Amino acid sequence: MTIANLLLVDDEVPFVDAMTKRLTHRNFHVVAAYNGDQCLEQLEVHRDIEVVILDVKMPGMDGIEVLRQIKIKYPIIEVIMLTGHATVESAIDGMKLGAFDYLMKPCDMEQLVAKSSEAAARKRGQEEKIIEARLKAITSQRA
Ligand SMILES: [Mg+2]
Repeated sequence: MTIANLLLVDDEVPFVDAMTKRLTHRNFHVVAAYNGDQCLEQLEVHRDIEVVILDVKMPGMDGIEVLRQIKIKYPIIEVIMLTGHATVESAIDGMKLGAFDYLMKPCDMEQLVAKSSEAAARKRGQEEKIIEARLKAITSQRA
């Protein structure tokens, strides 16, 4: 059984490939992207993605700009920022822009698994609230 549908975005190809393997082994479904543009393309195609794991430092569109775009187009999708020591401030900016959390690289597998699961649970909770609110709106119209 799949725990959650993830999109892993990082410009370091070997890192993405290794993490994809490890997360898949831990029962996550993982889609990969190697830059910001690919991230947004993958979100268009894979409408079931629940959590984006997003590198802060990437050539071209950086993680903060990608986060902004994600939050405009898909506000319910949760984002976990991946940061190095040099980019901790960016990760904090990311939190202010609506990121769920951040992880320091090299990231601990257990932490990544735990945070990804928490983020997916939060997204599902938010979706349930939206559905409940819609149902309430329908039933109150009928009353
Ligand atoms: Mg990078």
